[in-house]
Formats: sequence, structure tokens, C-alpha cells
Amino acid sequence: MLAYTYIEKGKFALVEKPKPVLVEPTDAIVRVTMSSICTSDLHIKHGSVPRAVPGITVGHEMVGVVEEVGPDVTCVKPGDRVTVNVETFCGECFFCQRGYVNNCTDPNGGWALGCRIDGGQTEYVRVPLANHGLNRIPDSVSDEQALLVGDVLATGFWAARISEISQEDTVLIIGAGPTGICTLLCVILKRPKKIIVCEKSEERRRFVQKHYPEVLLTTPEECKDFVLRHSDHGGADRVLEVAGADETFRLAWECARPNAVVTVVALYDRPQILPLPEMYGKNLTFKTGGVDGCDCEEVLRLIEEGRIDTTPLITHRFPLSEIEEAYRIFENKLDGVIKVAII
Ligand SMILES: [Zn+2]
Ligand SMILES: [Zn+2]
Repeated sequence: MLAYTYIEKGKFALVEKPKPVLVEPTDAIVRVTMSSICTSDLHIKHGSVPRAVPGITVGHEMVGVVEEVGPDVTCVKPGDRVTVNVETFCGECFFCQRGYVNNCTDPNGGWALGCRIDGGQTEYVRVPLANHGLNRIPDSVSDEQALLVGDVLATGFWAARISEISQEDTVLIIGAGPTGICTLLCVILKRPKKIIVCEKSEERRRFVQKHYPEVLLTTPEECKDFVLRHSDHGGADRVLEVAGADETFRLAWECARPNAVVTVVALYDRPQILPLPEMYGKNLTFKTGGVDGCDCEEVLRLIEEGRIDTTPLITHRFPLSEIEEAYRIFENKLDGVIKVAII
């Protein structure tokens, strides 16, 4: 089978690999029917994910059909259509039992697929701990509707959940890339008083305006003044930082009112500065990134009910044989791309 593979820093290539086989009794083999490209794949390509293992198949956003299961897999069976969770978790350790599945202490725990073990930009994938890593897709939900459930949408759902949003709040979301928009969709479900999205790309601001007209839009340059004008208590009550660009961490806490919650969803390329003397007295609560992707079943139910729809984000479709071109468009943000489906 063909597998898009991390060769070395700066280089991915489509190479021929044998079809994976069951290794552990808790494994499942999934035939990938659709996958996507994530910014984290680009982080691997650029060498900023030190634990990524050269030689592995990349890709951690995928849906498919269960082909084969080990004897201990009880939650899914061959033939089931499933979403694959970006995180592998055991469901039993200290962290899993508290919902912190990102910190699962199993050797395969956390982000393994498409980073430390073979992932999904290919034809078949071995999913460890499949009882927790796979969720059945309801019959009325299409592959495209479910494609983002296991990663960016799980991230948005988690970010909205931990941000303690109430209906009196003005919520600022920084960044309207794929994860930012997924975060927006999940914040909308919390019905806050106002939602402000800050995004530097005019194209992406237009996308948000077109699909979510109730959202207020601003730019990084105008963000601080804009938030002040549109909030009741001298800043946003909740800030979700999903951009991960230079200066957006600072923007996040500067736009927050005293005693606000600032949720950092973004993955930065570089260390950020937390200038405690400058923010002294602001009494902020920071929550930092690393999705706990344990709500996929609930997210699938919300999709089935029509309350979350990420299909407008899938702007481009390519066959696996043209994945190189898909990366070129995604990486360079060409042609209005938000998300790419590899079919
Ligand atoms: Zn990702
Ligand atoms: Zn665990």
C-alpha cells in the first residue's frame, strides 16, 4: 500500500509499505476511507516535533472502516464505519480515569498515530487500544461530516469545555484557521453573549463572516481596542488562543479582563514569555494546550443532530496519489484552503 512517510527533517514522501497487521489483542486494523492534513503534520515536517520518528506514516486525522480486530476489542467490529482518535489512551490509568487522556501513561498513550507510530495518510492503519481510539459513525453522518472529529474538532470541543464559558461572557477567539473555526463552532454551542474572532487573514475573516454572521470580527492590530469596546468589564471574559503565531500569546492575555480564563490551544514553534510583573494583579487563570480527546462520541451525536457542521471547512479534495500537491496547497494556504480531504 502507499503511505505518506516522514523521511527526514523537511522531507515527506509517498512510499510503498506492507499492509499493517494486528500486533496486540487490543489493536484494530482500519481501512482508511478519508484522511486530512493538520498543521501538526507540518510541524513534524519542519522538525519541530522532536518525538516524531523518521520512517513513520504521517497523518492523524482519518475516518475509515474496521477491517480486523484483536480478541480484546469489543467496542467495534469489522465493517463498522469509525472515526480514529488522534490520541491513544488506555481508559484505566490515573489520568484517563479523570478524563486527562492526553496524559495517558500507557507506552502508546498520547499522540502516537502519525507521530511515533504509523498514521493515516495511507490505505490501512493499525490503531492500538482500539476500544478507546475508535468511535462508530452514525449511519446518517457522512465521512466528510465526521472527518475532523478525532483531532481538530475534538480540540475545539475540549477548548470550549475547559474555558468555563457562561451566557454572560464575551469570548475572544484568536485565530480562524481550522482549529480556530472548530473552536468557534463549539463555543457557539455555549451561547455566550458575544463572540469575537481575531484573524489576520482577510480571506479567513470573510469565511467566518459568510458562515457565522453572528460573530464579530477583528484583526490583530485592532484587537485590543475592539475587545475593549465590545466587552462589559474592560476585556474579554474568556480568551481562547488558537493562532500560535508570534505575538498572539501576548495578545491573548492583554485582551483578557482581570480574573479571566485564558485557554491556550495553540502549539507554538518557539517559547513564549509570561511577563508576570506586567500582568501582576490581573489574576488570570491560564489553561494550556494538549487536547483530551475523550468526547468524540458526544461530538458525533452533535453532528448527527445537526448542531455541529464542519463540512464547509473541507475546501479541497485530493486522491492519495496527489497528496504532495495537497500539502503544497495546505502549507502555503493557497486557493482559499481551510482543510483538505485525502480520499
Ligand atoms: Zn492535528
Ligand atoms: Zn491511560
